[in-house]
Amino acid sequence: MLLSVIGSIQIFILFSVITASIWNKGYDLNKLGEISQQTIATITQQKAVDIKEIQPLLDHIHSSHPAIDFEWVTSEGTKIYATSGDLQPYDFQRLLELSVNMPQNLWAQNEPLTFIYKVTHNHMPYYLLMRLNSDVMKQGQVYFFIRSSTVLFLLLFPLLVSFLVPYLLSIWFFFSINRRIQTLNDALNQVNIQRDVLVLKDDSTDEIGQLTQHYNSMAQRIQHQVAEIEQFENRRTQLLANLSHDLRTPLTMILGYAETIRNGLYKDEKALQASAKIILQRSRYMDRLLEQLLDISRQNTETLTPQFATHNVSEMVRKIVADYLLLLDGQHYLLDIDIADDDVEAVIDAALIERALRNLIDNAIRYGKAGHYLGILLEERQSEVWITIKDKGTGIALEEQAQIFERFYRVNPGRNGEGLGIGLSIVKEITTLHQGTIQVTSIPHEETIFRMQLPKIR
Ligand code: ADP
Repeated sequence: MLLSVIGSIQIFILFSVITASIWNKGYDLNKLGEISQQTIATITQQKAVDIKEIQPLLDHIHSSHPAIDFEWVTSEGTKIYATSGDLQPYDFQRLLELSVNMPQNLWAQNEPLTFIYKVTHNHMPYYLLMRLNSDVMKQGQVYFFIRSSTVLFLLLFPLLVSFLVPYLLSIWFFFSINRRIQTLNDALNQVNIQRDVLVLKDDSTDEIGQLTQHYNSMAQRIQHQVAEIEQFENRRTQLLANLSHDLRTPLTMILGYAETIRNGLYKDEKALQASAKIILQRSRYMDRLLEQLLDISRQNTETLTPQFATHNVSEMVRKIVADYLLLLDGQHYLLDIDIADDDVEAVIDAALIERALRNLIDNAIRYGKAGHYLGILLEERQSEVWITIKDKGTGIALEEQAQIFERFYRVNPGRNGEGLGIGLSIVKEITTLHQGTIQVTSIPHEETIFRMQLPKIR
């Protein structure tokens, strides 16, 4: 650091000298002092006092320095000779003024400067006047008066301080940046899904501050996602446990009843029919579970690729409704079906939309059976088709509503053999593929509404 400070000082001096020699031209006090000393020395040497001797001498010097006018004046103010030709005498007052004002004269701008020197010859005082315009002087001049080398320390100290301060500031700046980067680096090294993330505090708005903010949000996002994955994994494990139980229970029943029939251990024809009915019911239930299991593996391996075509949505919904009318026949359900009479056409993948609607209606029947109500509404609104499925069952609490569309999410994850928690995730996926939306609003035990919005045109 010391070396670079010394180097800087040398560069500063070198460049000051070079630039001054290029742009700061003209006479300075040293030069004028030299000229006056030489002139006075020649005058004294040649004992030149009269016009005869002084005129050629001053003319000669004037020819070397045409910007300077020389005057040789007696103590009374009479000009013996002036290189400018102006022989107007000075009065004593003026001479006094000139010599008194000599230092101040130096700072004058666009005014003639006069330097006055006293020369004594044969005990008679004479004055040598050098007149020149201020614009032929250098534009600036700096002097150091050095009497002893001790003064060097006085100069060196402020110079060192002035060069050291920026260095120290930049070192401090460098270290503070380095420290912040180091903190960031340490925090990044510590990002670990097993542990809590380290939240860094850096309120500055510079690049490192922004980087820290990015790190904070990234670390929190990672943790959030890890938590989500863990939750997802837990649900999946629970699902598998439930599934094996849900499959085994009906299977045991089926085996039991089948054994009874095979061994002819039934009482009468009625009992035989009852056993067969149970076997059929349980088999259908298993079939449904296996169908859902298939959906899961499909969702894992295949990405749904919709085949869009123009379809009559009202016709499609009417057909689905007809199926459910048969199913619910005799179950004391209040059916509220409202499908526009006009044909509503939209560009959709009919098979996928049917799958989604059947999922929603199945849920409304399964989870809303306490309400004994099923509402299906189809509306055409400008460039959209709205399909609403409504029930009046147990409903979904507000805090659960955002999650029910997640895979494997079940409001009541206990084993009740109702589903695997993937139906609504498929509905969501299908709606998104159609650039539509699916929303739920629910007031438990009052009404639960699933509303699917689909754009008519692609
Ligand atoms: P599954 O029905 O296989 O459990 P879904 O993804 O279809 O999975 O539904 C997720 C959860 O949302 C269900 O477990 C259920 O608790 C809740 N749910 C869905 N539809 C309704 C509804 N109409 N009324 C009450 N709860 C519902």
